[in-house]
Amino acid sequence: MKVIWGKEIIDRDKVNIDFEDRGYQFGDGVYEVIRIYNHTYFCVDEHIDRFFTSAEKIEMRMPLTKAELKALITDLLRESAVKNGSIYIQMTRGNASPRDHSYPSQDVVPLLTGSITASERKIDKMKNGMRTTLEDDIRWLRCDIKMISLLGNIMLKHEAHKKNADEAILHRGDIITECSSSNVAMVKDGAIYTHPDGNLILPGITKIVWKSCAEKLNIPVYEQAFTTEELLNADEVFISSTTKEVMPISKIDDKTFDVSKKGSITRLLQSCYEKEIVKQCGE
Ligand code: PLP
Repeated sequence: MKVIWGKEIIDRDKVNIDFEDRGYQFGDGVYEVIRIYNHTYFCVDEHIDRFFTSAEKIEMRMPLTKAELKALITDLLRESAVKNGSIYIQMTRGNASPRDHSYPSQDVVPLLTGSITASERKIDKMKNGMRTTLEDDIRWLRCDIKMISLLGNIMLKHEAHKKNADEAILHRGDIITECSSSNVAMVKDGAIYTHPDGNLILPGITKIVWKSCAEKLNIPVYEQAFTTEELLNADEVFISSTTKEVMPISKIDDKTFDVSKKGSITRLLQSCYEKEIVKQCGE
């Protein structure tokens, strides 16, 4: 299997990462996941932009340009022959031994790695919905950075899994923020509500796509905070992410939502999202 290591594409078993790499010791790094449909990246420029923005937010110098990164991941995709799947790329602050909390000098080169995995769309879940639980958002206050230290997120996802659910919907006090690995939105009286971007949530790329779908469909979108109670009384709830796309929610704890309704807003967004996939990636 070929992977990205630094600026090269090499065999996975040739990768050599020092145990003092700051990604390994501190979780000091950022990442992106980009979906691949039909041998083509979806929303690639938006993901690369967010990757660079995340790096900038932690004052990490990128050792390559956006165009170089795009060329590198495109070469890897060509070599991989994967039709449907995703690429995971991450950039750590590199190896600055001995271990020290302080940021190292700028001549320590950040380390880029990346790999492609084949996977199909979650058609069954997209049709029947995902089960979720409500969990206390125990994460830190810079959730806008797509960083590799995901302990809070994975602990929360694990809580959901223990309760036989797929995803955890998070709240800070009364306010719904996002999910452990997706954004969340609710539909009430024909309008969509979702938490505004800021330090409490990740600015989702999938959200950009469904928001433009909503605009085309003349469905109002309010990026404003809503409460747990409002969520439980919503007409529809959906979550969104690169790998889940627009995903209906069938259950939040014990509360069930009927996802079989034809013509619901979630269904309209799903079919618009599919058209966007075809537009960018072909059939
Ligand atoms: N929020 C969190 C915490 C995530 O981890 C993700 C994706 O992994 C998202 C939201 C959705 O972001 P995107 O639509 O860019 O995949």
